Amino acid sequence: MKIVQKEFHVSTRGRTEMVDVTRQVEATVREAGIENGETTVFCPHTTAAITINENADPSVVHDVLLALDEILPRSNPGFRHDEGNSDAHAKSSLVGCSEQILVKDGGLVLGTWQAIYFCEFDGPRSRRVIVQVRGE
Ligand code: ZN
Repeated sequence: MKIVQKEFHVSTRGRTEMVDVTRQVEATVREAGIENGETTVFCPHTTAAITINENADPSVVHDVLLALDEILPRSNPGFRHDEGNSDAHAKSSLVGCSEQILVKDGGLVLGTWQAIYFCEFDGPRSRRVIVQVRGE
């Protein structure tokens, strides 16, 4: 089995934002030259996350971010962390810092409407995304 690991950067523009990184992940898989296996997309940050969701209607991304804001508002009188970004830390844990995607015939196995998103919860910042591809 071959293991190839690469990373790329994402520059986020808003405090909260979902950036479609499917093309960058696909490019990494192609460069790795792995035909069949799997890939892990990992975010090495505590106020960001990785998720898979719909890319056809941009309203979906808007609504996901809105729903997360409703579940975890920025201000909460109980928060103790003095950076003032506890909502972002909590969203990061809720959404999760990685996704695993199957690789078949040199491409990602995703549903028609699925895209891989880098989720920013405390931007704007320059962020890293690590992609590891394993297989043959
Ligand atoms: Zn913090």
